[in-house]
Amino acid sequence: MGRAIPKDKDTLPCDITPELYEHICLKFWSKVNRQAPNGCWEWTGIRNSYTDLKYAYGHFEFRNQGWIASRFAWLLIYDKIPKNKLVLHKCDNPPCVNPAHLFLGTNKDNSQDAKRKGRLGRNRRTGITPVP
Ligand SMILES: [Zn+2]
Repeated sequence: MGRAIPKDKDTLPCDITPELYEHICLKFWSKVNRQAPNGCWEWTGIRNSYTDLKYAYGHFEFRNQGWIASRFAWLLIYDKIPKNKLVLHKCDNPPCVNPAHLFLGTNKDNSQDAKRKGRLGRNRRTGITPVP
């Protein structure tokens, strides 16, 4: 069988000691470029992407599980993500993990945000934007 699929990735594992936490933080932030001129802290490690790698989310491996780097950054600081909430980007830059650029929202917030920022296109056949 493949690796176990985590039931819940809304919190950091509860057995993390302060020493381990420090170690994880060092490992995590060593993969981040905090010098970008736009104020974004961009992930320099592996990225997840279905389309354009330049705009893909960071991928962080921890205990053989893959985490979205921006979610992991949120967890490092705030410990948990409320149920059904997503970690979204104010800066609209998926590889960014700057905590000051992240906020919590719902799926609906995400698509409204995407629409406002012109990220959602129109359906090619109908010409209609898929989210009202
Ligand atoms: Zn940013």
